[in-house]
Amino acid sequence: MQRFQYYIDGEFLDGEARFQSIDPATGDVWADMPEARESDVDRAVNAAEKALYDGPWAKTTATQRGKLLYKLADLVAANAQKLAELETRDTGKIIRETSAQIAYVADYYRYYAGLADKIEGSYLPIDKPDMDVWLRREPIGVVAMMVPWNSQLFLSAVKIGPALAAGCTMVVKASEDGPAPLLEFARLVHEAGFPAGVVNIITGFGPSCGAALGRHPKVVHIAFTGGPETARHVVRNSAENLASTSLELGGKSPFIVFADADLESAANAQVAGIFAATGQSCVAGSRLIVERSVKDAFLSIIKRKAEAIRIGPPLEMATEVGPLATKRQQDHVAALVDKSVQSGARLVTGGQKLDGDGYYFQPTILDCDGVTSPSLAEEFFGPVLSVVSFETEAEALKLANDTRYGLASGVFTQNLTRAHRLMKGIRAGVVWVNTYRAVSPIAPFGGFRLSGQGREGGLAAALDYTRTKTIWLRTSDDPIPDPFVMR
Ligand code: NAD
Repeated sequence: MQRFQYYIDGEFLDGEARFQSIDPATGDVWADMPEARESDVDRAVNAAEKALYDGPWAKTTATQRGKLLYKLADLVAANAQKLAELETRDTGKIIRETSAQIAYVADYYRYYAGLADKIEGSYLPIDKPDMDVWLRREPIGVVAMMVPWNSQLFLSAVKIGPALAAGCTMVVKASEDGPAPLLEFARLVHEAGFPAGVVNIITGFGPSCGAALGRHPKVVHIAFTGGPETARHVVRNSAENLASTSLELGGKSPFIVFADADLESAANAQVAGIFAATGQSCVAGSRLIVERSVKDAFLSIIKRKAEAIRIGPPLEMATEVGPLATKRQQDHVAALVDKSVQSGARLVTGGQKLDGDGYYFQPTILDCDGVTSPSLAEEFFGPVLSVVSFETEAEALKLANDTRYGLASGVFTQNLTRAHRLMKGIRAGVVWVNTYRAVSPIAPFGGFRLSGQGREGGLAAALDYTRTKTIWLRTSDDPIPDPFVMR
């Protein structure tokens, strides 16, 4: 059995307690993990605070921070295959996706490496004589980061990269479901040469480890990715110390197809948009909203494609859909499909767990026209597409916005003016037109409403890890006059 350690204050440690990690492809235990408890969290946060104010990091220039980040990026690229195999083994995400995604994670670190010495303060044209006033941009402080099981290296890179560029120190909590890739990544942080305590990487359970981290008095900002229910706990805990939060949460993203779209191309995007990562993607295009005149034609294309998907062991390159990450998730998907069918949704294809070992579930399409199906409102985080149809553009927009979420959306049409109207009208943080699931370190990403607040990616994300300090300097040598007259 493979054994992992966590990383606190520059040291690899076994932790107070241990837990076992399950291979979702077989349901068997495959690795032994360190479980951080409250005292470990305390140690990690104290190490981060010490590194921020007292260690060599405090004297590291922005350019040197950038160089360390470039080194980390190179190490991620050089170790991408190993990291990908660990992520696949521990979470079931297929190797085709983990290897491509982790190779791209290196580019996120490169982007923030380049930004490190471009974060500038400013000089203010103040309305008083003999006074110079500046805004200094400083690191915000010790940051707590929590990520869910899917794409942990990616979801942590969009936090760690900008936070390091800004000069912060941090404690990163890997998900208890599949922490192996992040714990291994800690070895690259160490090898890159970041001073002890700058990046601490632990894992443990949400209500104990996560909660202790979120309410730690030395944590000033919490960068969280996960579900809205957990986010509420995080925000409540943050209130204790008035820590700020950025929240990247779930979605129920609309995927709108008009009759004039290239249906074959839209179908490929739809199939990837919902079945990639076995649907365990926050941006899954899980609500297909299709123009009625092409509904049957479009459904028959995606049904054919869904039924042709190669389901299999995630470590095999030929596999297109792997297992769900946990038994809990497999049961959740099955129960929500059953509830939706009972409410009147019609199964177009799929709908079943696969027999045998592992947490597999068939790619599933539910026709929800004319019914109030829970599948249209609740996030599966699994390979299930719900379909409704529309007659008019206004109806399509209304259906798209009929959700408490607002993370992503897709519009497929050849009509330019309509595309423009929809990109303005859709209430979601990302609108993809004639494409889906594209991301880049250069493009900010984040949601509205239950999908969260704050943006990751882009220049602004690095500024979010800074705070400004206003410096007043009197330039006159004259004695200070009467203190009871304001100037
Ligand atoms: P989750 O909310 O259960 O867990 C996320 C992380 O929070 C885990 O590390 C967990 O241990 C931790 N946690 C749990 N309770 C906590 C607490 N009380 N205090 C602090 N931390 C706590 O999420 P999940 O079920 O692992 O992942 C699925 C969810 O994540 C979905 O809703 C999905 O849409 C969302 N997600 C969002 C994005 C995005 O960028 N918007 C990306 C991926 C996943």
